[in-house]
Amino acid sequence: MRAQTTSSRFRALLNLKATSMSVNINNNVLLLQPFSFEDTIQYLKNAADTKNLIFGKIIHAHLITSSQLNEQSNNVVLMNSLINFYSKCGEIRVAQNLFDEMPQRNIVSWSSLMMGFLQTGGGFQVLKLFRNMGLVDGIRPNEYILSTALSACKGMLFEGQQCHCLGLKSGLVFYQYVKNALVRMYSMCSDLGGAMGVLYSIPGSDIVTYNSIISGLLDHGYMNEALGVLNRIVAEYKAWDEVTYINIFALCARIKDANMGMQVHNHLLKNSGEFGFYVTSSLMDMYGKCGKISYARKVFDSLNTRNVGSWTTIMAAYLQNDCFEETLSLFLDMELEDVEPNDYTFAVVLNASASLSALGYGTSLHAYTEKLGFKGHVIVGNALINMYSKAGFVGHANKVFTEMINRDIISWNSIISAYCHHGLGNEALSLFNDMLAAKIKPNNITFVGVLSACGHLGQVQEGFYYLQQLMNQMGIEPGLEHYTCIVGLLSKAGLLLEAENFIRFTLVNWDVVAWRTLLNACHVHKNYDLGKQIANIVLQMYPDDVGTYTLLSNMHAKAKRWDGVANIRKLMRERNIKKEPGLSWTEIRNNTCVFVSDDKSHPELKQIHEKVKDLLNKITLLGYVPDIATVFHDVEAEQKEEYLSFHSEKLAIAYALLKTPPDAPIRVIKNLRMCSDCHSAIKLISKVTNRLIIVRDVNRFHSFRDGNCSCQDYW
Ligand SMILES: [Zn+2]
Ligand SMILES: [Zn+2]
Repeated sequence: MRAQTTSSRFRALLNLKATSMSVNINNNVLLLQPFSFEDTIQYLKNAADTKNLIFGKIIHAHLITSSQLNEQSNNVVLMNSLINFYSKCGEIRVAQNLFDEMPQRNIVSWSSLMMGFLQTGGGFQVLKLFRNMGLVDGIRPNEYILSTALSACKGMLFEGQQCHCLGLKSGLVFYQYVKNALVRMYSMCSDLGGAMGVLYSIPGSDIVTYNSIISGLLDHGYMNEALGVLNRIVAEYKAWDEVTYINIFALCARIKDANMGMQVHNHLLKNSGEFGFYVTSSLMDMYGKCGKISYARKVFDSLNTRNVGSWTTIMAAYLQNDCFEETLSLFLDMELEDVEPNDYTFAVVLNASASLSALGYGTSLHAYTEKLGFKGHVIVGNALINMYSKAGFVGHANKVFTEMINRDIISWNSIISAYCHHGLGNEALSLFNDMLAAKIKPNNITFVGVLSACGHLGQVQEGFYYLQQLMNQMGIEPGLEHYTCIVGLLSKAGLLLEAENFIRFTLVNWDVVAWRTLLNACHVHKNYDLGKQIANIVLQMYPDDVGTYTLLSNMHAKAKRWDGVANIRKLMRERNIKKEPGLSWTEIRNNTCVFVSDDKSHPELKQIHEKVKDLLNKITLLGYVPDIATVFHDVEAEQKEEYLSFHSEKLAIAYALLKTPPDAPIRVIKNLRMCSDCHSAIKLISKVTNRLIIVRDVNRFHSFRDGNCSCQDYW
């Protein structure tokens, strides 16, 4: 009686698809009567589908104790079910043992074990089984087994081609299933020519074939070919599935074609009544990447239900469009709707606060990630490194990096570039060596960091060694960014003519950045003649570049060529180029305070100006002389000094000194390149006030401490 009650409970539980094991099943189970054959098969299937290992093992044990496995007639089918169950639960060894013990096997036995190996990443074993199937049991493959074998050929093109041949000989290629597997196989082996060959040579493609080929082409960057296939889909298929839409939106995003994206969006609205989260996310992502943020927002606002994924997608779209405040404000909206953020959400908002250099906000986000248990998540760690680095706290960034349990290539690249941005070349190179020692393969971004580290250290030979030898050894093709680093390296070392020749004789499609780097170097190294030539090249490429006019004018002024200064002023008036106003901002107790040089509206202006004058008096005692040559105005010397004194970064620093405790570091962000007068003044201010002052200007970080700057006067 007791056994029967337990039995009915047990059966009820099995019928619940064995999803929960909360009911304690004791030895009574073993006393149960044998299940019917059909029930057993169904139970094992349920256990396999729900990956409920304990449950399936109980059934297995029951089969053994009730001697059902010995009945010859059903043995193969039962054993196949068991192999399928253990395979799906990842217990591939048990599955293999059962398979080996079988006196008699059929095609399903082979395919179940092959599927098991395929799911656990054992592609090589799958192919071995595929070969042995005929040799050992004399079984010919069917279309499903051939597809499984093709799926196992990831990265094994030769084996994949052999399977392709076998499919041709046996005629199995004409099964849609096999054709699709072939397209997938060639894509996975990065042989898109092979994939296209299959698409066009074997008749009959369905939407799955087209989905596979488009996603393969997208993954490998063949945009034109993807567009060609898209045209065929448009011509041949009315009924697209969700994957088709996702792929095509991804294509529009990659080629930044918002018009095409809108047409596909219309197609979606006309042809599909309902579409799921992934489609709407790819749609928002597409509009975001095409710079149509308001369209992305419309899609988001029209959603009936929004999960954390949809919120994160729209925030990421705002982030991509440099709308950092909106990203953070959406995060607050999401919190109000009680949607819990995930690691991707944190990565997005941390990057937004990094771009705003909102340290206060970033720090509270950091605490929040730890509270929700995301400390070990790589993407969160990477975003934290970026946030602290951009806020000027490379030490904090390094702490996050050292405490990371898991790191990926992005973590290494982020910390290396963080040290570079702070001018700490030795630290960056030492991390690069740690990376090599940890057997992490660097990529092209890593080398941008390494080469700029060499630049900071003035290590010209080492830089060329990395570019010409190490990158080659590691199979990384140098690109424009690396060559630009070399221009920076030569420029910094004062090898200006070498830098110019390097640009002229290196066959790469140079952009304005390299020339501007050289121009900057001519200014710093006081080679004004070359500087003027280079400035003309920059202005030909980019006639509105205010920074170049400023540098050019400075160079004329320093060479005491006042007619040159006047000419440039005239040129700027003619071309209607206005000097961007200098802006600096600093964060005091989570409030961002913005300063403009000639702004008279600040309520505490009087105190701030007094503080600046007080600081200038103190540093004059240390030998500070205002560098009036850099002033851009046509005014008398005394007034020039006045203009210089109230450059926005000086105002911001004075204000921060008034408002923060005596030992707190001061952080200021400036929208333009810092002028050399401010630079030498701030060096001395850091000395007289005994403060760490970090200024991020448009080029780099300057860490002023005890009278020195981390840039070593090169920026
Ligand atoms: Zn200045
Ligand atoms: Zn500096």
